[in-house]
Amino acid sequence: MSGAVPGTVYLVGGGPGDPGLLTLRGAELVASADVILHDKLIPLEALADARADAAVIDVGKIGGGEQVPQEVTQELIVEHALAGRSVVRLKGGDPFVFGRGGEEAQACRARGIPFEVVPGITAGIAASAYAGIPVTQRRMASAVAFVTGHEDPEKPETQVDWPALAAFPGTLVFYMGVRRLGRIAEALIAGGRSADEPAAVVQQGTLPGQREVAGTLGTIAQVAADAGIRAPAVTIVGPVAGLADELAWRAAARPLAGTSIAVTRARAQASALAARLRALGAAVVEAPAIRIEPLAADVPDLGAYDLLCVTSPNGADQLLERVRDARALAGPVIAAIGPGTARALRAHGIEADVVPERAIAESLVEALREVPVTRALIARAEEARDVLPEALRERGAHVDVLALYRTVAEPLDDAARRAALGADYATFTSASSARFFHAAAGTFEGPRIVSIGPVTSEALEGLGRAPDVEAAEHTPDGLVAALIDDVLARRGG
Ligand code: SAH
Repeated sequence: MSGAVPGTVYLVGGGPGDPGLLTLRGAELVASADVILHDKLIPLEALADARADAAVIDVGKIGGGEQVPQEVTQELIVEHALAGRSVVRLKGGDPFVFGRGGEEAQACRARGIPFEVVPGITAGIAASAYAGIPVTQRRMASAVAFVTGHEDPEKPETQVDWPALAAFPGTLVFYMGVRRLGRIAEALIAGGRSADEPAAVVQQGTLPGQREVAGTLGTIAQVAADAGIRAPAVTIVGPVAGLADELAWRAAARPLAGTSIAVTRARAQASALAARLRALGAAVVEAPAIRIEPLAADVPDLGAYDLLCVTSPNGADQLLERVRDARALAGPVIAAIGPGTARALRAHGIEADVVPERAIAESLVEALREVPVTRALIARAEEARDVLPEALRERGAHVDVLALYRTVAEPLDDAARRAALGADYATFTSASSARFFHAAAGTFEGPRIVSIGPVTSEALEGLGRAPDVEAAEHTPDGLVAALIDDVLARRGG
C-alpha cells in the first residue's frame, strides 16, 4: 500500500434515461469527479457536464460489443480510488436495484475505500409512470414487487419462486427478459395468476424512443413480439396496468415524443431551442453549422442618431455588451427587427420603441414609415442584407451600418453529419445556418426541413431545397409551433 489517502467512490443512480430525472446530487458529483465509470443505460447528456480533464470510461461495452466483465469494472473502481481520485460509478436507474451496486460497495469496503450511494429513479417506477401506470393504487394494488426476468422459469436452477410470485398480492414489475416473456407469463398463469390480468410492456421508458404495448397476462408476450418490443423494457403485471389508457399523459404533454430533430444554429444559442424541443419530448441532435465571431467594432456616439435599428438577437447582445454607459441609449428611437430581437434587448433592460411582428427587414421598413429619421445607425451582422439601409437612405436619411459580428462555419464531424441527416427534421433559424449546414453536410437530403421564415426559406431554395415547413411567426417559438403542427398533421391527429 502506498499510504495515499484513497478517493471516495460514489455509486450514483443516473435514473431511467430522461436527463431531467438525474438527481441534483448525482449531477453535482458527475460535474466534480476525477473519474467517471458509466453504464450504457444512462442519460449521456449528463456526461456533458463532466470536467474537461475527467477520465470518462464506458464500462457498459467494449467497442460495440460485450459488456466489460463486472470484476474488471470493480478493479477499475478500486484502482482509481486507491490512487486518490474521486470516482463516480454512474449506473442506470438505481445502483442497488438490479445494478450490482451492492457488489461494488462490497469491493470498496473490502479495500477500505470510502463510498457514498446516491439513489436513482429506478426504471420499474419511471417507465411505468411515463406510460401512465401507477405501480400502487388504492384498492387496486397495495404492494409492488420488482422481479428479475433474467431467470428462465423452465430452468431447474431458477432462483425465483414462481408459484410464490404468482400468489403475490400486488403489482409485479419485471426487469430484463423481454425475450422470456412467454415463459414468464406461463409460469405465472400456472401458479394461479389470472390470464385476464392486465399487463403492459414499456420499452425505453422516459427516453425519446419510448414505446409501450398493453394486453393481458395471456396475450402480452405475443403483443410485445408482434410490436417488435426489445430491451431495455419493463413488464408490468397487475390491474394497475389497465389504467394506462386513462392516465397516459405523454402524448399530450410531449407532442414531439418519438421525433428526432437536428438543431443547426450556433452552439451558444442552440441550447434554449434544444431544451424546449427536449421538454416537448423530441430527441435533439445538435449539429451546429455556425458560430458567432464578434468583430472589433467601437460603438459610435449614439447621441448623434435619432434612430437605432437592431436586426438580430445576436446584434442586441453584441451591441449592449459594448455600451459602457446605458444613458448613451436614451437619445435615439430604438427599433428591433422582430419579437426575438426585442426580447434580447429587453434582457438588457431596453424596451424597443418599434417592433414589427414579422422579423424581416421589409416589415421593419414598413413599421418605420411614420417615424421621422435624419441619422440612423444599424447594428447588425457583417453579412446582413441591405434592404433596411437602402430604404432609409431613399428617404433621405444618413445611415451608418455597424457590423458587430460575423457568423462563421463550424465544421461538422462525420457522426454529427450522419445524425443530423438521419433525423426526422432539421431546423434552420437563419439563412447563414442553412448555407453553412449545406456547405458542411453537402446535402439536405433526409430530414424534413423547417425554416424560421421567408429569408431563411429563400436561402434554402437558393440551395435547391424548398423547406417542408415554414414558421408563421419568425421566432424560435414560432418554429417550434410550426414543427408540432407538422408532426401532428403527419400523424393524422
Ligand atoms: N439499475 C437499473 C436496472 C438495471 S437492469 C434500474 O434501477 O432501473 C437493466 C434493466 O432495467 C433493463 O433490462 C430493463 O428491464 C430495465 N430498464 C433500464 N432502463 C430502462 C428504460 N429506460 N425503460 C425500460 N426499462 C429499462
